[in-house]
Amino acid sequence: MNRILVAIKRVVDYNVRVRVKPDGTGVVTDGVKMSINPFDEIALEEALRIKEKGQAQEVVVVTIGPADCQQQLRTALAMGADRALHVQTDAVIEPLTAARIFKSLIDREQPMLAILGKQAIDDDCNQTGQMLSALWGRPQATFASKVEIGDGVATVTREIDAGLETLEIDLPAVITTDLRLNEPRYVKLPDIMKAKKKPLDVLEPAALGVTPSEQLKAIRYEPPPQRSKGVMVKDAQELVAALRSKGLIQ
Ligand code: AMP
Repeated sequence: MNRILVAIKRVVDYNVRVRVKPDGTGVVTDGVKMSINPFDEIALEEALRIKEKGQAQEVVVVTIGPADCQQQLRTALAMGADRALHVQTDAVIEPLTAARIFKSLIDREQPMLAILGKQAIDDDCNQTGQMLSALWGRPQATFASKVEIGDGVATVTREIDAGLETLEIDLPAVITTDLRLNEPRYVKLPDIMKAKKKPLDVLEPAALGVTPSEQLKAIRYEPPPQRSKGVMVKDAQELVAALRSKGLIQ
């Protein structure tokens, strides 16, 4: 069966103004709206479109994290995923641990594609997809803005510093999504009801042969410095004069 595995991470919603805990040990998450990482929603949307074109038969969403992550898996099922896997743990999950867990699931599920976000907006690591590709020994196309599935290959347009690059990669492979790949669909109420009946399996990292370990140590979290107040100008002439006085224009 042509299957697509999609990674879904639960993160603080992108509309929330993130606050650092007073003791500097992390950011406040209690009572804060949590959502699917935006790049992962795009990953799921792309997987669903590939399935709707008849190029895949099953979309499986996976998350690694505490019990609360099931809310995001249910949302993903309501969007259209066929089933969900929750690797439940309260441990800190760094990219290498996440990649090891995904690799173990790939061995079980044998997908033709693993689609991840290019980065999770909480830690902004941008590493998991690349590490997964190395562990799996399969090609990767990161920062995808267009994906076309062919016969045993995927043609992927990537957003790079100099513009766009198009790669053809053999399947199975890892793809990570960029913002312009697609616009994720909205979840409809009947789909939320239907999603409650879809399969959601819970596993532990140990059952996949992975012990979460920490290679990184966060020393301290601090909010960014406050922006200084702006200067109001009356008209364009005053704006030009102000910029000139600061040496920003000639
Ligand atoms: P990162 O390398 O941490 O920026 O994450 C890149 C991508 O890996 C995310 O957009 C997710 O698709 C996936 N990912 C990372 N950590 C997790 C996790 N704990 N659960 C599910 N997916 C994850």
